[in-house]
Amino acid sequence: MSIQPAQLRKDFPILERQINGHPLAYLDNAATTQKPRPVIESLVHYYETQNANIHRGIHTLAVEATKAYEDVRAKASKHIGATNTEDIVFTRNTTESLNLVARAWGDANLQEDDEIVLSLMEHHSNIVPWQLLAARTGARLRYADIAPNGLLQIDSLRKMIGNRTKLVSITHMSNVLGTINPIAEIAEMTHAVGALLIVDGAQSAPHLPVDVNQLGCDVFAFSAHKMLGPTGVGVLWARPGLLAEMDPFLGGGEMISIVRPEGSTWAEGPHKFEAGTPNIADVIAFGTALDYLHDLGMENVREHEKHITAYAIDALESSGGITVHGPRDIEARGGAVSFEVDGVHPHDVSTIVDAYGIAIRAGHHCAQLLMRYLNVPATNRASFYIYNEEHEVDALLNALEEAKRMFGNVDSRTAV
Ligand code: PMP
Repeated sequence: MSIQPAQLRKDFPILERQINGHPLAYLDNAATTQKPRPVIESLVHYYETQNANIHRGIHTLAVEATKAYEDVRAKASKHIGATNTEDIVFTRNTTESLNLVARAWGDANLQEDDEIVLSLMEHHSNIVPWQLLAARTGARLRYADIAPNGLLQIDSLRKMIGNRTKLVSITHMSNVLGTINPIAEIAEMTHAVGALLIVDGAQSAPHLPVDVNQLGCDVFAFSAHKMLGPTGVGVLWARPGLLAEMDPFLGGGEMISIVRPEGSTWAEGPHKFEAGTPNIADVIAFGTALDYLHDLGMENVREHEKHITAYAIDALESSGGITVHGPRDIEARGGAVSFEVDGVHPHDVSTIVDAYGIAIRAGHHCAQLLMRYLNVPATNRASFYIYNEEHEVDALLNALEEAKRMFGNVDSRTAV
C-alpha cells in the first residue's frame, strides 16, 4: 500500500511542534530523521525492563538483552539483502564503519604508489579516512569527475581504475545532489582489477530497497539515525569471508578469544570488531525502526520520495531565480535537493525560512570537494522522508518568495 504521510505523522511526536509560531516542516532528513513513537518507546522499554550487559552474563536479563541485540543484527542484515547475519558489525555511525575498514583492511593491504579511487561527490566521511590511510601508507588518491547533469562521469572512473587501484570507495547516493550511482557497474570495473569496492550507503539504505548481492560491493556502510533509528548506531557489512581476513580495529573486552601475557587471539565474526560494551539500547531501538520501515515497505518509501522530490524540483525550478543542482531524472536520484536562491546567501535563506517553521540545511554539507566543483561556497538543501507532504514544499516555496523579496530579488512572475 502506498505511504500515507498524513497518517504516519501521528507517530512522530516532534512533528506536532510549532517553530516560531508555525507548524514544523522538517525538511532536513539527509542530516538526520525524526523518530516515531515505537522507537522512542523501545528505548524506555529496554531500560525499564531489560537493561543488562550483553554476551557476558548467564542471568535472565543478560540473556534477554543479548537476544534482543543479536536479533537486530539479523534485521540489519535482511534490510540490505545480506546472506549472513555474521557479516554485520555494529559501529557508531557510517563514519566509524569507513574508518574501521581504512584501518583494519587498508593498513594491511595498501602500500606506496597504490591508488585509492573516490569521487568528487563524496561526503567528508568517505574522503578523510582514505586521506589518512594514504598518509600512513604512501598510497595516492584519485577523484572521479561529475558530469554537468549531476551524474558520475562513469568513463572517467573507468579510466581511473587500473592496475595500481587497491580500493574504490563511492557513495551509493549523494547527500547533496541526490545522485544514485551505478554501483553494480562500478563493482565490475573494480573487481576486474582485483580491487575492493566500498559503498557509502548512508543516504541509500534509508531511502531505497538495497541488496548488497545485486550491488556486488565488498563493503557497505550506513547509519541508524538517518532511518528513524537513534543516533550512535552504525552498520558495517562486509562480503562473506572479508571480516575474517581483517585485523581488529579496537582492542578490549568482548573482541578476544584468549588473552595471554604475550598476546591475544580474536573472537570470530563481527565480535572481533565490537570491543567493549556496545550501544545496546540504541541498537535494539534501531531494530524497531527497521520493523517500522519494513511494515511500510522500502519500495513504498522510495515511491513516496520520488513523488515528493519531483514535486519539489518542479516547484523550485518554476518559481524563478532559483538554481537546482543534481540530476532531473527522478529514477537516477533520491530526495536530497540542493538549490540556491540567486543573490541570497544560503545561510540567510535558511534563517528566513526557519522563521516560518521550515527546517532546511545551509552549508557545504560535508562535501567541500563538491562545492568547489559546483563553484559555490555553500547551497541550501531540502531533503525528504516518509512523513513529508506537498503542503510543506508549498510552505518552503512561499518562504523562499519572502527571502527573494527581502533581498530585492523578486522574479517578474511572482512580483505583486
Ligand atoms: N555519507 C553520506 C553520504 C552522508 O550523507 C553522511 C551523513 N550526512 C555520512 C556519510 C556520515 O554519516 P554519519 O555522520 O552518520 O557517520
